[in-house]
Amino acid sequence: MNYVIGFPRIGEKRELKFALEDFWAGKISQDELEKIARSLREKHWHYQKEAGVDFIASNDFSLYDNMLDTSIMIGAIPERFRDIEDKTTRYFTMARGDSTRTAMSMTKWFNTNYHYIVPELSAQDHYKLDISKVKSEYLEAKALGLNTKINLIGIVTYLALSRRVDGGDVFALFDKILPLYVQALSEIATLGEDILVQFDEPYFAKDVTSLELSLLKRAYDTLGYVKGVKLSVITYFDSANEAIKVLLNTPVHAIGADLVYGTLSDENIKAFQKSDKILIAGVIDGRNIWISDLDQKAEKLKDLGLTNLYIATSCSLLHVPFSLHAENRLNHELKSWLAFAREKLTELQLLEALYHDKPVDSLTLAKNRRANALRKSSDMIHDKKVKERVKALKTETKRKNPFSERIKIQHQALHLPTLPTTTIGSFPQTPELRKIRLKYKKKEISKEQYEAAMKEYIDACVAFQEECDIDVLVHGEPERNDMVEYFGEQLEGFAFSQFGWVQSYGSRCVKPPLLYGDVSRPKPMTVEWIRYAQSQTTRIMKGMLTGPVTILNWSFVRDDQPRSASAKQIALAIADEIDDLQNTGIKIIQVDEAAFKEGYPLKKSDAKIYEKWAVESFQIATAIAHDETQIHTHMCYSDFNDIIHTIEAMDADVISIETARSGNRLLKIFKKSGYKQEVGPGVYDIHSPRVPSVEEMVEQIKLLLEVLPKEQLWINPDCGLKTRKWEEVKKSLENMVTAVKTVRNLL
Ligand code: GLN
Ligand code: ZN
Repeated sequence: MNYVIGFPRIGEKRELKFALEDFWAGKISQDELEKIARSLREKHWHYQKEAGVDFIASNDFSLYDNMLDTSIMIGAIPERFRDIEDKTTRYFTMARGDSTRTAMSMTKWFNTNYHYIVPELSAQDHYKLDISKVKSEYLEAKALGLNTKINLIGIVTYLALSRRVDGGDVFALFDKILPLYVQALSEIATLGEDILVQFDEPYFAKDVTSLELSLLKRAYDTLGYVKGVKLSVITYFDSANEAIKVLLNTPVHAIGADLVYGTLSDENIKAFQKSDKILIAGVIDGRNIWISDLDQKAEKLKDLGLTNLYIATSCSLLHVPFSLHAENRLNHELKSWLAFAREKLTELQLLEALYHDKPVDSLTLAKNRRANALRKSSDMIHDKKVKERVKALKTETKRKNPFSERIKIQHQALHLPTLPTTTIGSFPQTPELRKIRLKYKKKEISKEQYEAAMKEYIDACVAFQEECDIDVLVHGEPERNDMVEYFGEQLEGFAFSQFGWVQSYGSRCVKPPLLYGDVSRPKPMTVEWIRYAQSQTTRIMKGMLTGPVTILNWSFVRDDQPRSASAKQIALAIADEIDDLQNTGIKIIQVDEAAFKEGYPLKKSDAKIYEKWAVESFQIATAIAHDETQIHTHMCYSDFNDIIHTIEAMDADVISIETARSGNRLLKIFKKSGYKQEVGPGVYDIHSPRVPSVEEMVEQIKLLLEVLPKEQLWINPDCGLKTRKWEEVKKSLENMVTAVKTVRNLL
């Protein structure tokens, strides 16, 4: 039997995205939205049925997010939303806020780029079951002739990812919420005979405590005895052997393990062999886009020696794009190596046949074998020169002299005032700018016209920054659509799909680059723009690059070599760019590592390995900088408490960070740890349209000066300005500079 943990819902052509946005804009009615949603569910079920999937999910669909749906199911509605009577309005207001109510917060779903809505729980609240969505989606499938399993977020994962608004411990609410789960199961039992209910417990792929394991045991001991339903409890994103061991001793029917991003311990394999429990073996990669080596996977499954086994995706297919059907611009060879969600359904079916030594569709299998063989040797992927260059790297590729010496030389070369001011790189991306880039892409305007328009924008940016009296200028990044895509498009080894969208949150999707081969830089990527910008001013123009770790973490990466190997290749390409920039006379170069933290593994014990190669990659990229070239980096988060030594080891001369919303609380770790390099803690939050006042920023700068000495501080906004409007940016930066000048006069 084969088993799909969950299917993407946004639609092949992002139909759900557009329907949601039209609904929010009042362009379509709720009925119309529901109609589109229903037709998508039907289509997605149909695809799975057609592909011979035995276990198809219902309730994997969501209009916004499954965690939010779970909050609705148990009636965990935060107080500020309770007066909204219309259920749909309330649902979307919880997700997105309105003029008087702040939205519930949103955060990353484990180490994926999907974001969920964080439940807000409190001991005072009364919870009440609302199972209507679960029921109606199950019955909807049933009316189409499908007996689906029902997906629910498991209670321990749900609680672990929640926030107590009254300050208590989330797990203290376990006994309050468990009865609602029991009641949900009893209601599901009335819908049909022995319905399989899937509980997602990915939380157990992290480091878990004995308390959490005991709650897991209590939860599924209790839920497993509810009559008339069968349970599967699944884990994913990493090994979860401790939890699986516990689950083997509960009355559940099936247990899921991720065998792509994790392994099953020998002890657990043996326990499965003796048990009547079914292993849901997650062997088809739900997070990456490559075809499977089916022969190898069939062998791996046979080696488990189990008779009770469902062949499954490693996690929900939510994290991969829909299908390759409409991708007609991808290189043929590359396309033959790819499997998106629908192609993975076919793989499941083939794998199952191979595993059972049943006759298979020989043509498809032959294609799979040929593609796998080609991928091993194709010179589209394998570039000897690149491999040799990485091999030749010294074990420690570091800058020539330590920071303490470099910074003296830099201060002499740069002549910056105390508390130098700068920005993070991008200036507002206006609709006109997007239009010009699109027209150029479609070849509707000439290269000359395009370049003239970009230069006009750069001129305006430079003029404004000079007028505003900012010390270190930027060119504004008008030529960039996205900080990773821009570089990916110019590097060898990257490709771009047309429709490879993946849901990030709500209606928002991203289209990650496909990193398929050895990476190199055929020619300079940013030099001409930065050179031009520098030629327009006597002030210092900062070069702006995206770092290797971020490029890697925001792409679909190769599975035929470790991530570390790809990171080093990208690092060398960035090093080439840094060298070209400094040889052109650029004195400061910023290498953004916005996504550095996102790459951390789920288990603490694996963090060291990641940190080692991630830091090394940044060092490989920047080691080429001369002592007098000042290397900046920027990171899009604020809490550095756990990783301060890692950040220090990256050895950037200056780091700008996102602490604006925390006053100086989060900056303290820099002082406490004895961090030596210079720091630009954001002095205002760019995520809001509000223009901060001079007084406010004076206060903020004074707060920063309480923590770090003036010699160590830079003054800047907390992230790039591309999402803001010009009028907001102008006023905010003018106020920022006035604030700095006020403080400088007091020093
Ligand atoms: N340099 C980039 C910008 O300013 C950095 C973006 C980011 O940190 N996400 O847009
Ligand atoms: Zn940022």
